[in-house]
Amino acid sequence: MAPKDNHPPTAEMQALDAAHHIHPFSDTAQMRSRGARVITQADGCWLTDSEGKRILDGMAGLWCVNIGYGRHELAEVAARQMQQLPYYNTFFMTTHPPAVALSAKLAEIAPGDMNRVFYAGSGSEANDTNIRLARHYWHLMGKPTKRTIISRKNGYHGSTMGSASLGGMSGMHAQGGMPIPDIVHIDQPYWWAEGGDHSPEEFGRIRAAQLDQMIDELGQDNVAAFIAEPVQGAGGVIIPPETYWPEISRICKERDILLIADEVICGFGRTGNWFGSQTYNIDPDIMTIAKGLSSGYQPIGGSIIRESVAQVIEDGGDFNHGYTYSSHPVAAAVALENIRILEEEGIVTRVAEHTGPYLQKKWASLADHPMVGEARMVGMMGALELTPDASARAGFANEGTVGLMTRERCFANGLVMRHVGDKMILSPPLTISDSEIDTLVELAWKSLDEGMAVAK
Ligand code: PLP
Repeated sequence: MAPKDNHPPTAEMQALDAAHHIHPFSDTAQMRSRGARVITQADGCWLTDSEGKRILDGMAGLWCVNIGYGRHELAEVAARQMQQLPYYNTFFMTTHPPAVALSAKLAEIAPGDMNRVFYAGSGSEANDTNIRLARHYWHLMGKPTKRTIISRKNGYHGSTMGSASLGGMSGMHAQGGMPIPDIVHIDQPYWWAEGGDHSPEEFGRIRAAQLDQMIDELGQDNVAAFIAEPVQGAGGVIIPPETYWPEISRICKERDILLIADEVICGFGRTGNWFGSQTYNIDPDIMTIAKGLSSGYQPIGGSIIRESVAQVIEDGGDFNHGYTYSSHPVAAAVALENIRILEEEGIVTRVAEHTGPYLQKKWASLADHPMVGEARMVGMMGALELTPDASARAGFANEGTVGLMTRERCFANGLVMRHVGDKMILSPPLTISDSEIDTLVELAWKSLDEGMAVAK
């Protein structure tokens, strides 16, 4: 049963919030004048705000609530674990049952010989760990000059100094002196906006070849790793041409650099397999995980590491790295229960066999809207390219304005979709029903109509 809705009046909460709370990725001045949206409850795929309005969550929170809201099993596991052992660390040769069980489970579902896990509290922390892991690995291998990490423009790997440096978001780099040294970026495989006259296949090869060129420029002996999301999420669901990943994988192997797949969004069913690496046949050395690992019910992230790489780290004595909340027992227990639900309810298989294809078909119908140039989707993550001229793959003059308007219309119509510039983004809970998908697509079409009216 949903808890009683006994919060203070909306205006009171908004005033207190505006006075004391700095929000991530938000325009505080704008929020002060209009008041933050207050979400008070959620169930299944639906949010409820403080005024009782129900909103269909097309983003699964921040791409994370894979099993949907309101699963009491997770609450019960968390309560039990809090009573039994609310906290203990895994530093200094100590462990606890949830850490043991979750690590074994992750080793079982991860591809190939990826069977060691280092835990963090988030995806950002896990990617900071990956910088440390990759450099420490090469040091132990007797190649200490292999330090530089190659990443991609418009990739997203988190918000700490290390992970935001790995990311290629210029707006983030502009604040705070990033990237930190020894992190460089190549271009993304974003055919719609940057592919010009090339076919997607040609373009995939061209963008992958930049990795080879960058390694030549830096010198192979100076490069530790390449990191990328199988599908760029926050950059705008950039689905790479099919020629891209085979080339990247080949180059990483031939040039002797570690391949880090950031699975924070793609992992735990989002692309129709447990990991995006399986969907794209990527053979990574390290995978970053978070979000869908616990369906967002508890903050937890980690790095899953290939046995041969982990062995070198383990043989190297102390790894002088760790977070107070690495393998937090409550978060680990909740993650394990989340994976049990994903597995026993066949949710990942269902994404591949039913929900993904159904959503993709409905999503593709939005390409008939006059403002949509492309409606792309893999598994259950998708984007709409809003354009004034689809045949030219043109952008709007004031980039982001129409996207923002359309996002606002979505909210007003009871649908959460995110905008990235003039792309509309979708990543709903994997448990969404067919009739909810129908509703979602109807609300999206209506909001596009209204967004287009404002754009004119
Ligand atoms: N990596 C990817 C691919 C992400 O999308 C995100 C968050 O959106 C992160 C890392 C950072 O994760 P967190 O926000 O948990 O630190």
